[in-house]
Amino acid sequence: MALLLRILAFAFLLWLVIGYFRNRLAGIFRSFKPGRGGDHVAEMVKDPVCGSYVAIDEAVSLKKDGIDVYFCSDRCLEKYEGR
Ligand SMILES: [Zn+2]
Repeated sequence: MALLLRILAFAFLLWLVIGYFRNRLAGIFRSFKPGRGGDHVAEMVKDPVCGSYVAIDEAVSLKKDGIDVYFCSDRCLEKYEGR
């Protein structure tokens, strides 16, 4: 019985590791295909400070009152915070 549990635990760990590396590989392959469209479309967010639109992947984010606010740069974030 103990052996069976050990096999199950091992299989579970293996499954986790495979899942982790599959995600990593998918991310790497996606970054190797610039501008191909594909299934990954970056969501655009509006910078409330300068009004420009930024891809959510490249935006600087700030959590305020439980809501994520996105900026095009650290400078805009600092301006937003009144620094
Ligand atoms: Zn900005």
